[in-house]
Amino acid sequence: MITQHALPSYLNPEDLGPWGQYLQQIDRVTPHLGSLSRWVETLKRPKRILTVDVPIERDDGTISHYEGYRVQHNMSRGPGKGGVRFHQDVTLSEVMALSAWMTVKNAAVNVPYGGAKGGIRVDPKTLSRGELQRLTRRYTSEISLIIGPNKDIPAPDVNTNEQVMAWMMDSYAMIEGNLSTGVVTGKPISLGGSLGRREATGRGVFVVGQEAAAKRGVAIQGARVAIQGFGNVGGVAASMFAKAGAKVIAVQDHTGTVVHSGGLDVALLHQHVAETGGVQGFPGIEAFLDRDAFWGIESDILIPAALEQQITAENAPLIRTKIILEGANGPTTPEADDILSDRDVLIVPDVLANAGGVTVSYFEWVQDFSSFFWSEDEINARLTRIMQDAFNSVWEVSQDKKVTLRTATFILACTRVLQAREVRGLYP
Ligand code: NAD
Repeated sequence: MITQHALPSYLNPEDLGPWGQYLQQIDRVTPHLGSLSRWVETLKRPKRILTVDVPIERDDGTISHYEGYRVQHNMSRGPGKGGVRFHQDVTLSEVMALSAWMTVKNAAVNVPYGGAKGGIRVDPKTLSRGELQRLTRRYTSEISLIIGPNKDIPAPDVNTNEQVMAWMMDSYAMIEGNLSTGVVTGKPISLGGSLGRREATGRGVFVVGQEAAAKRGVAIQGARVAIQGFGNVGGVAASMFAKAGAKVIAVQDHTGTVVHSGGLDVALLHQHVAETGGVQGFPGIEAFLDRDAFWGIESDILIPAALEQQITAENAPLIRTKIILEGANGPTTPEADDILSDRDVLIVPDVLANAGGVTVSYFEWVQDFSSFFWSEDEINARLTRIMQDAFNSVWEVSQDKKVTLRTATFILACTRVLQAREVRGLYP
């Protein structure tokens, strides 16, 4: 149940979407915030929302219009930071929730950023490369009013990548008349990108997975891992778990679900996906399952790494696993969270589990400012340390307050954000 929020007028109270999920999470943490709770309303409304029209000329000469957003949820601790998503289901509610989760995530791993997110409501698979470039450049120009290396720094998310970041950086540089590599992260190495950035989120998922497994007495060697999403996050996590001796027994993506109880050959699966666009049709497996059957596969570690609101009150009772590592943002609804926590499934929440990407984005931004670049080993070692420290701080709070890891992460993060809010005071 969501408590009575003074909802902003642009939201439909009957259908809050992922933003409603976030508000419920804030309600759960509020009783633990002590005197800082008087500032909690700050977290329940984004600081700034920009909706933009993104028109492009199609290859056939017609004009198409797309709806784009950039939401800056909170900037108490630093400039906005968060990815840009190109997907046909992007909504304002979704971008708002994703921006808020960035606020929590950045504070959880203690990088000096607020939270922001952007998106365009488009199916990029329907666009040619030229159309995608024009879309990206026009969107960048529309949001250039509010982004910048010290204001708000976009990064890749679903269906955006290094190339999209390069176009964003170039467009911003053309508009500003100077080269500001630090305006986006997740760039190609040749443009000031960081070594290790591409793998960072999946690596972070793996690092917290190791910590969680140790707490639960699960050996990584031989552990059965099921993964939804085989993109940047899920694909890298799959490779790292397989390399460490785990068995990746099931993978689902938008094309289907492949299962092998002896462990899929992850390297070959990567090759198949690169060649065919999805896991469907992968040879030598035991079974192709339909979408919903994926949740019934017994595993030791389950990694949702696709989209939000995938684990729901309907499928949570089917899930048989010991640990859930939320690679995706917002994959578990609050109702499902309760069902699984009551069954003692250890859920490492998105705002902690997938923070590796933004952590190396932070390294990239620091390297760009100083024009001094670190080795991959140095980056991976620093990332591992930050993720381990964050996990263990959250674990201590959860033990101390007898709350889930999600509530513990929110307690730690919201306390940091609201302390900054309080000490800054309200302007004017
Ligand atoms: P991606 O585009 O690289 O991969 C997405 C994967 O999800 C693909 O394998 C796709 O087939 C699969 N997928 C899409 N729709 C699906 C569906 N309906 N059912 C099953 N699978 C489906 O995206 P990504 O960068 O790996 O991001 C995945 C999730 O991780 C998102 O929630 C994103 O916000 C989150 N995340 C990403 C990063 C990052 O650095 N890339 C960082 C933090 C969080």
